[in-house]
Amino acid sequence: MSEESHPHPPSGLLRPRFWGVASFMRLPLWEEGDSPPEIGIFGVPFDSGTTFRPGARFGPRALREASTLMRHYHPVLGFSPYERTEVKDCGDVPVNPLDIAVTLDHIRDFVASLQALGITPLAAGGDHLVSLALLRGLRERAPFALVHFDAHSDTTDQYFGGSRLAHGTPFRRAVEEGLLDPRRIVQIGIRGSLNAPDELAWAEAQGLSLLRIEEALALGAEEVGRRVREVVGEGPVYLSFDIDCLDPAFAPGTGTPEIGGFSTREAQSLLRALRGLDFIGADLVEVAPPYDVGGITALAGASLMWEILCLLAEAVTARRTAAKEGGAE
Ligand code: MN
Ligand code: MN
Repeated sequence: MSEESHPHPPSGLLRPRFWGVASFMRLPLWEEGDSPPEIGIFGVPFDSGTTFRPGARFGPRALREASTLMRHYHPVLGFSPYERTEVKDCGDVPVNPLDIAVTLDHIRDFVASLQALGITPLAAGGDHLVSLALLRGLRERAPFALVHFDAHSDTTDQYFGGSRLAHGTPFRRAVEEGLLDPRRIVQIGIRGSLNAPDELAWAEAQGLSLLRIEEALALGAEEVGRRVREVVGEGPVYLSFDIDCLDPAFAPGTGTPEIGGFSTREAQSLLRALRGLDFIGADLVEVAPPYDVGGITALAGASLMWEILCLLAEAVTARRTAAKEGGAE
């Protein structure tokens, strides 16, 4: 495949970036019947798993809009993801805001259909419950390692006397369902008050690695990257990024903000320290535009999706190279 064959977003030097339909990163929209891209970015406009303030259902639209600011080339990583891989906007998953179970099935089926076409998914939430369904859709290659940025562990058992599907439970369910290997999960940025002193006991008992924010900041990005590698090792890794791992000063537009979080610059450094992992999918969740101020949360979210897209492009390229070499033997 020639590198020039991949569609690039139109240059902002030729066409103003506020022009046209706001797709993710100003990429072409993928429609059924088109040849499948290698990476598909799509929206999951669903927030019926929120336990406090809703609004993340409007995340994909705000993220698409803010992502029009993203250009082609990553000056620190030193490449353009569009030179290495074909990326398209695959639209939104069908959702029913009145039915959690049905929507989770829609999300699972959507991702499974992308996977069947060899498309690596990058999802924009939606609340964090959608990650459970995204992992279910990828289950063919499970169990996965997980790199999880969040103020919260999201391993609560249930809410309000029996609700097991909420944005605070996805990773407990995913471990129970065998989608994730708990000893290969690392959660970064954990903080905030708890409902009980032993709230994280289940996660710790399963062998999850919890990197509290104080520890992550003391270690610095490079050392956090090294520890993540130690935990996840070889093999497929899923990346889940809850925007509330950022401080509310940088990301006020989210459902359950917690002070004392990462800055946008720290988050960029942390993501860049994860180069080389075998990422098989990713999401960025919990951007809730109704509480945003001046669009800063959406801008942070879209910019971090761009960082994640570059990580995925490297992983996709590495898998393609490995497959070619394997085939040549
Ligand atoms: Mn979360
Ligand atoms: Mn959170």
